[in-house]
Amino acid sequence: PLILGIETSCDETGAALVRGRELLADVTASSMDEHARYGGIVPEVASRAHLEAFVPTVDAALEAAQVDLGEVDAIAVTAGPGLVGSLTVGVAGAKALALATGKPLYGVNHVIGHAAVDELVHGAFPERFVALVVSGGHTSLLLVDNIATGVRQLGQTLDDAAGEAFDKVGRLLGLPYPGGPHVDRLAQTGDAGAIRFPRGLSTGKDKVRHPYDFSFSGLKTAVARYVEGCEDRGEAVPAADVAAGFSEAVADVLTAKALAACQSHGCDTLVVGGGFSANSRLRALAAERAEQHGITVRIPPIRYCTDNGAMIAALGSALVREGAAPSSLDLPTDSGMPLETVRV
Ligand code: ATP
Ligand code: MG
Ligand code: FE
Repeated sequence: PLILGIETSCDETGAALVRGRELLADVTASSMDEHARYGGIVPEVASRAHLEAFVPTVDAALEAAQVDLGEVDAIAVTAGPGLVGSLTVGVAGAKALALATGKPLYGVNHVIGHAAVDELVHGAFPERFVALVVSGGHTSLLLVDNIATGVRQLGQTLDDAAGEAFDKVGRLLGLPYPGGPHVDRLAQTGDAGAIRFPRGLSTGKDKVRHPYDFSFSGLKTAVARYVEGCEDRGEAVPAADVAAGFSEAVADVLTAKALAACQSHGCDTLVVGGGFSANSRLRALAAERAEQHGITVRIPPIRYCTDNGAMIAALGSALVREGAAPSSLDLPTDSGMPLETVRV
C-alpha cells in the first residue's frame, strides 16, 4: 500500500510517500528562520507558515514520488503531541485530503514516528527493542514489541528535554539559537573531564524510583552557577570545557539508561531518533557502550531524525500493515498525546 504521511507538529511542514518500508519521497519546509530572531518558536508564526506550506509541500512530495493523489491508499497525519495550532493545520489539511479521496486517515503519535522512521532506513524491526527519542521537545524511553500496536513507555524527562537543555546552555554561553549544534561543536574542542556536572536521577533513591526517567534542569542550573561563579570572580568562562562537561553528563545519562533498559528487557537493539540524535557525544558513547554490551544501535541519518513526513508515513504504513482501524474523520488534535497511544 502507498501511504502519504503529513507532519506539522512544530515548525516543520513535512509530506512523504512510503510504499511498505520503501521511502519514495520526503519533502520538508521549515519556518525556523522566522523563529530564530525571537530565540524560540512562536506558535502563531508556525501555524501560519504551515497554512502557507501545506499544499505546496504535499504537491512537491507527490511530484517527487511521481504518483497522483488518487493512487494513495491511506493518509497518516501527526495528531499529537505538539503545538495545538500547528497540529490543527496538518490534521485539517489531512482530513480534507481524506474526504476528497475517500481514503482512510490515521492520526498518529509524533514521538513514536521518530522511532518508526528507522524501518525505512535499516529495514524491519526485531521482535522487541528499546527506542530512545530525544529532541528539542522530547526525551523518552520506549519498549516496543510492535511499533503499530505494542508501545510501552519506560520513562521520560521530568523537566527539560535534552535538546532544550542544550539550547539553554547555548544561551548561557552566548551562542546563537538554537544552541544545541553550537554547544556540540564547542564541546568537541574542550576537555570533558575538566568539570564534572551532575547526572540527574542516576544515584540512590532517585535512581531506584526513576530508573528510566531523565532530569536535566538540575544540570542546567549547575552550569549556570558555574558560569556565574567565573563571572563573579572576574575570570574568563572556560566555555569549551563547560560545553564538554555538560555534553558528557547528558550523553552519559541517556546512554546508561537506554542500555540498562535493553538489558533488563532482553533487547539486543536500541533505536535512537529525534533531532538530538545529531549530538556527536551521544552517538559516540552509544556506539561504545552498546558494543560493550553486545547491543546493536540503529540511528537513522540526521535528515530523518529531525521532524519530517517520512516518520509519519512510516508509522502509517506499519499501522496499515498490522490491519489497524483508521481514525474517525472527527479526530481531534492532542497536544499532550500519551506515549502509549500510537493512533487516535
Ligand atoms: P520535537 O521536539 O517536536 O521533535 P524539535 O524541533 O524541538 O521538535 P528537533 O528538530 O527534532 O526537535 O531537534 C532539534 C533540537 O535538537 C534542538 O533543541 C537542537 O538544539 C538540538 N540539536 C540539534 N543538533 C544537536 C547537536 N548536534 N547537539 C545537541 N543538540 C542538538
Ligand atoms: Mg524542529
Ligand atoms: Fe519531533
